[in-house]
Amino acid sequence: MNEHRTTSDTEFQLISFDADLVSRYSGRGPRYTSYPTAVQFTDAFTEAEYREAARASNERGRPLSLYVHIPFCTTLCYYCGCNKIVTRNAARVRDYLDCLYTEITMQAELFDQDRRVEQLHFGGGTPTFLDDKQLCQLMTHLSQAFSLETGPSREFSIEVDPRSVHSESIELLANLGFNRLSLGIQDFDPEVQRAVNRIQSTEDVQNLVNDARKYAYRSVSFDLIYGLPRQSVASFDVTLDQAMAMRPDRLAIYNYAHLPERFKGQRMIHAKDLPTPETKLDILQHTIEKLTDAGYLYIGMDHFALPDDDLVQAKHDGTLQRNFQGYSTHGGLDLVALGVSAIGNIGDTFAQNSVSTIEYETLISKKQLPVKKGLIVDEDDRIRAAAIQDIMCHDGIDYAVFGQQHSVNFSEYFAPELERLADLAEDDLIVITNTAIAVTAKGRLLLRSIAMVFDRYLSTADTNKRFSQAI
Ligand code: SF4
Repeated sequence: MNEHRTTSDTEFQLISFDADLVSRYSGRGPRYTSYPTAVQFTDAFTEAEYREAARASNERGRPLSLYVHIPFCTTLCYYCGCNKIVTRNAARVRDYLDCLYTEITMQAELFDQDRRVEQLHFGGGTPTFLDDKQLCQLMTHLSQAFSLETGPSREFSIEVDPRSVHSESIELLANLGFNRLSLGIQDFDPEVQRAVNRIQSTEDVQNLVNDARKYAYRSVSFDLIYGLPRQSVASFDVTLDQAMAMRPDRLAIYNYAHLPERFKGQRMIHAKDLPTPETKLDILQHTIEKLTDAGYLYIGMDHFALPDDDLVQAKHDGTLQRNFQGYSTHGGLDLVALGVSAIGNIGDTFAQNSVSTIEYETLISKKQLPVKKGLIVDEDDRIRAAAIQDIMCHDGIDYAVFGQQHSVNFSEYFAPELERLADLAEDDLIVITNTAIAVTAKGRLLLRSIAMVFDRYLSTADTNKRFSQAI
């Protein structure tokens, strides 16, 4: 692992905003939380193949990562593009949890008991939609079925909706083993909050952060979104001031992609209220300047972190990873996915559970695993995934190191890609030499555009329909 290029403090600071480049490269593209991406999964993948992948993974015995999907939300945020169910029907939630507990048991039977779970993530939807009793029951099922790590090396995180947690819940989550909180903030401006139907006070968030500090969470992360209706540079500046006053360890600044033809809820957003593309670029530029001035370091894609955060250390020593949770310090784990629509990655396979709750519950009731789609990656996928990982996490590729790790001659294997990368080098996104590709200060804001050159599935013009905008 340590053979990757390391990143110095000075290199970290070097991100350079070029509005012309950012707008020229702002076509749509994957976020590369996996390669191949979920678009390539097919329903030809079978439950038997999943079971075989789990069996083979026990021979390697790597530690596990668990992802648990809680799809429920109390209200609809109009910008949302997630797989979620807006409900207040308690019976529906109980039925889902019963199926989830059955799935936990069925999945755990496939993996050797001595495989430690080093990473756990509750995502949604809204995991904190569950009440304290339900959260306790869910953790009890997980800890009875799997060997959850209890030491400080564990990375147990949960997405928290500040509107649905109280001080007691933050204490409870810490007692249950969670040591990272990810808070959906999006924007503190009341006018923006009204326009997207997500009302939450700054005071509630501040109280939540105070509780997280009190209960010694290792990291608190904020999600913000730019490009939302009623936003301006000035209004978002106030949001940034409020966010930075709370000093989260990590910040993710996402771009809102308005796709009302695909996401029904977005039709509630009036197009006339959206900031223009020029204003969005100004907001982004201002955000980057403000965060770096405040001491945040750029990790990659939309992520920033304080210098003492684990992600920064991982970036320094070349162990940073990208997986379905975004950037992570834990690599090489087999990921077991639990719940509707959840995606797992065991050995050389990706497997996705049914995206329909009805189908998910029906399959579980028949004692079948709810795996509906997937993919067995081939050698070329593995090599390309490594190149994309190097671009997304390590800002470049050293041909000799890559060749040693993957038994290929990089320049020969990627000769067509190197030709195509020449255009990006002319635009000063990368520097190409005989021995390496290095991402430049301007290129760091356009990592996915560089990574896309290595994606063999992406020559089709339908990228625009399927993926969010690159920036
Ligand atoms: S943004 Fe989060 S809380 Fe809002 S509807 Fe989507 S999943 Fe639910």
